[in-house]
Amino acid sequence: MGNKRRGRERIERCSSCGRVVPRDKAVEYTRRTFFTTDLKGQDNVTYSDYRDSYYCISCAKHQKIFEKKKAQLQRSRERELYG
Ligand SMILES: [Zn+2]
Repeated sequence: MGNKRRGRERIERCSSCGRVVPRDKAVEYTRRTFFTTDLKGQDNVTYSDYRDSYYCISCAKHQKIFEKKKAQLQRSRERELYG
């Protein structure tokens, strides 16, 4: 009974090239979309949204997402320290 199947693996599609990658091999990148109407009053509407994108490894390398992720991690760590 050594047949350990890893259940249903989540599959993501690379946001850049459309390649299908398993979740554990995809590089997750959270992008923050920020929208504001820039009105200096009560009518001002700000809207921010976190959107998760997944990239295959080659696109992640190409788009330097690894470095962005590193920066993201560093930022969150700083927030933990000083926030
Ligand atoms: Zn890709």
